[in-house]
Amino acid sequence: SPRGSVPHAQRAVSPLRVPPHPHHRSARTDPALARSPPRPPEGRRMPSTTTQIPRPRKGEGQWGLGYSEPLNKNEQSKKDDNPLNVAARIEHIYAKRGFDSIDPADLRGRFRWLGLYTQRAEGFDGGRTATVPEEDLDARFFMMRVRTDGALLSAHALRTLGEIGRDHARDTADVTDRENIQYHWIQIEDVPTIWSRLDEAGLTTMEACGDSPRPFLGSPVAGVSSEEIIDGTPALEEIKRRYIGDEKFANLPRKFKTALTGHPGHDVSPETNDVAFVGSMHPEHGPGFDLWVGGGLSTNPKLTHKLGVWIPLAEVPDVWAGVASVFRDYGYRRLRSRARLKFLLADWGPEKFREVLENEYLDAPMVSLPSPPSPVGHRDHIGVHEQKDGRRYVGVAPVVGRVSGTMLVALADLVEEFGLDGARLTPYQKIVLLGAEPDRVDDLLDALEGIGLSGRPSNWRRNTMACTGIQFCKLAIVDTKNRARDLIAELEQRFPELSTDDLGGGITINVNGCPNACARTQVADIGLKGQLVTKDGEQVEGFQVHLGGETGLHANFGRKLRAHKVASSDLGDYVASVVSAYLADRQPEERFAQ
Ligand code: SF4
Repeated sequence: SPRGSVPHAQRAVSPLRVPPHPHHRSARTDPALARSPPRPPEGRRMPSTTTQIPRPRKGEGQWGLGYSEPLNKNEQSKKDDNPLNVAARIEHIYAKRGFDSIDPADLRGRFRWLGLYTQRAEGFDGGRTATVPEEDLDARFFMMRVRTDGALLSAHALRTLGEIGRDHARDTADVTDRENIQYHWIQIEDVPTIWSRLDEAGLTTMEACGDSPRPFLGSPVAGVSSEEIIDGTPALEEIKRRYIGDEKFANLPRKFKTALTGHPGHDVSPETNDVAFVGSMHPEHGPGFDLWVGGGLSTNPKLTHKLGVWIPLAEVPDVWAGVASVFRDYGYRRLRSRARLKFLLADWGPEKFREVLENEYLDAPMVSLPSPPSPVGHRDHIGVHEQKDGRRYVGVAPVVGRVSGTMLVALADLVEEFGLDGARLTPYQKIVLLGAEPDRVDDLLDALEGIGLSGRPSNWRRNTMACTGIQFCKLAIVDTKNRARDLIAELEQRFPELSTDDLGGGITINVNGCPNACARTQVADIGLKGQLVTKDGEQVEGFQVHLGGETGLHANFGRKLRAHKVASSDLGDYVASVVSAYLADRQPEERFAQ
């Protein structure tokens, strides 16, 4: 039983033992945590007699069913040492002694819990990944993710993020589709300085990667939208305060993605997250959140199951912890490829999941919701929109999230100059500025255009995303960011007059460098999955195309058309022909995905 598992302190540990990071809570530094053994999970009750947990035919490595021995090297690594302990080693050893001093188990494993991956070594090209050992792909530089969790970034925070990009990351500072800022070219020697600068601005890299609660998606217009059902900001802040960096959820079976929105447009892509809280109105109880669980893309894509419940704002953190606990205790740990919550949901179904959540982890049953919420209105917030206080918010589009440190510093200047409240990042690699005075909006739009952020973007710039790709990602097969940038320019030339409205709400294009679908391949109108394709008898960079995917009211996966494999060099011609065919046959109001 997991209750009889070896206490953490008695397990084998890395030989590198140093004092803990001052900002890191661990069982060694926090007496409250010391009273909470990592297994069994705190707060879990024994299954009630009415809860029938089907025991898998073969052990899936579920702690809750007694499979406590690590069944693969990732699980062994997490058992060997709490991944959060690596913060102290970075600060006290690796940053002082340099890259070559880093324990490989930390370098390619536990560093992720602090938002650090080694980036792809320069010079590797598409197709070689499968045959090249991982250590040969590693550059001596890191990619670093900073989580924002839907928070409003002040001018000071934006300036800090920009200056770090300029000073330590060769002026990189991409906006990701999980509302992160992602740097490249980080050197280990600079990490403590970066952490301290981020800390001073209220930001962190804690659990930005790893088998942990990844950065949260929050509505970019929370608290200001006149359409909003409920502002979920306090719940997100509380979940972060209680659980990020807490040992309780630092060893999950795999990544755990959270989204929360009270906006009726469901502007955080809730269907593709492990857990999502979606604003809903109960006829008797008023505004609250429905609970959706078990979404995720990658190679076995699944959309969330809607539990059809009503959760008041104050109870969201407890319910979130309950869902995370179900995942921790019952998630499949034997195979990494089955270790996401979506596989548990596929086997249990939503009714069983709700039963286990309520019976073992919550104090009381959840209230049922007569009808789950359906999305209405826009989701990306691009352009100028009225706030509930009469001021305006302005959504702007960098090109596929490619932002620089210099651009963020310039943005901080504009936030001050125009007296704005700040900025939020979006799940579509965009930025929303809050609190513009109506009579200064035109000047603001011009100023933003001047620094490379368009509030009046073409459909192609507005609706195209790209993942990190081969420039920096070790898993990539093809280039994405540069390819997508060129595609946008080409489509703007070929279809200069087409607006997002002309295209039935827009045609989305998501460019991914491999099957992992970090830029959500399967839910774009035109989803592109990087792979090698054959052209003129040669293996070249290209994409498998998925057509007609959506989130929202008609959430569905795009169809993978086996015949639609396109070389990167032919991508412009391919997309132009698909769009032309759609426009030629389109009925009034017909969406691309129909
Ligand atoms: Fe890397 Fe693949 Fe994710 Fe793109 S989709 S960032 S290539 S892992």
